[in-house]
Amino acid sequence: MHDHRKLGRELELFDTDPLIGAGLPYWLPAGAAVRHALEEYLRELERHAGYQHVYSPVLGKRELYEISGHWSHYRDSMYPPMELGGEQVVLRPSLCPHHALLYRSRGRSYRELPLRLAELGGQYRTELSGVLGGMTRVRAMQLNDAHIFCTLDQAGDEARAALAMIRQAYAALGIEQARYRLSLPGPGRKYVGDQHIWEQATAMLTGVLDDSGLAWEPGEGEAAFYGPKIDVQVADCAEREATLSTVQVDFYQPEQFDLHYTGADGARHRPVMVHRSIVGTMERAVAHLIERHGGAFPDWLAPEQLVVLPVTDAQVAQRAAEFGLRARVVEPQSGTLNRRIRSSRLVPYQAVIGAREAADGQVAVRRRDGRQLPPRPAAAALAGIAAHVAEHVTGLWEPAA
Ligand SMILES: [Zn+2]
Repeated sequence: MHDHRKLGRELELFDTDPLIGAGLPYWLPAGAAVRHALEEYLRELERHAGYQHVYSPVLGKRELYEISGHWSHYRDSMYPPMELGGEQVVLRPSLCPHHALLYRSRGRSYRELPLRLAELGGQYRTELSGVLGGMTRVRAMQLNDAHIFCTLDQAGDEARAALAMIRQAYAALGIEQARYRLSLPGPGRKYVGDQHIWEQATAMLTGVLDDSGLAWEPGEGEAAFYGPKIDVQVADCAEREATLSTVQVDFYQPEQFDLHYTGADGARHRPVMVHRSIVGTMERAVAHLIERHGGAFPDWLAPEQLVVLPVTDAQVAQRAAEFGLRARVVEPQSGTLNRRIRSSRLVPYQAVIGAREAADGQVAVRRRDGRQLPPRPAAAALAGIAAHVAEHVTGLWEPAA
């Protein structure tokens, strides 16, 4: 496996600068293209699953995190408060408290539940500098997050559906090696809430894992301070394990923020909050994808999807953009055809246009794996690649004979 810190810089996906600071990578155009494709994919997946997208600020008053419990249980990982107009404002360590307030912005009826709020939002943690340098442990990150507010009866199905979405995304991303863990409390006093609600949440998540047919194991001492969770663990190039995805059932935050809904019986009830992230932070997800694929991303994620290798003209690249493809022209001046093919070995497709193809308006597509496809009209080739990209699968385009 490649080290994303090295390969990611070689491929000009991301970099860091001491003037910005440790643990604060920036995304270069190629990396931003990968991230953008991933974000669009996740938004679409969520839209189809009935999620609504929101935005909320990355700052909040200290009081907000006192209510959520982050201030007393998580302060060591939070940035120190900033004094502002007699108040203390902090960079948020998670999005949950903001979403609880969004839920609370007006009265809710049981008819609105499950209410699924999703946000790709910033969160901030003061990771120790010793573990920084790449994209797996950073101090500012963008989380693919969502909170589902639902009845107790709905919570199990929502958690099940979230786990199914994680597996669907992993298939599209080509993530095959993952370990499923039920993260439980361990010894110590860092956990909040009654014993009874922990048991209820644990039983629910155990049922979800058992129903999934996946192999899983318990992880003592790995729970969130407010509840147990399903964590999906992946390993990096040095066999260090990290959590990529998570599903959590939370009875505590709804209590803390006094959330409620009006039931069919006209009475006030407490909703359950399901926290879930399909691929975690953009930083860690892309770091893992760099290592997993060695830079040869599935076509729908690739920073460049097509290179056009013309002998004479390069009209095809312009038309590729019209099909929504990320394409680049490698001019004949930059070397022999073989050399130009080698220099773009990670790009899924190469459109070779010789003198004869140019005369016929055709292209000969060569795939990254070396397979040469017969020449075909440029528009048909581009439409075929674009349709394949839209499928979000890991294999390369295989035109019908
Ligand atoms: Zn949350």
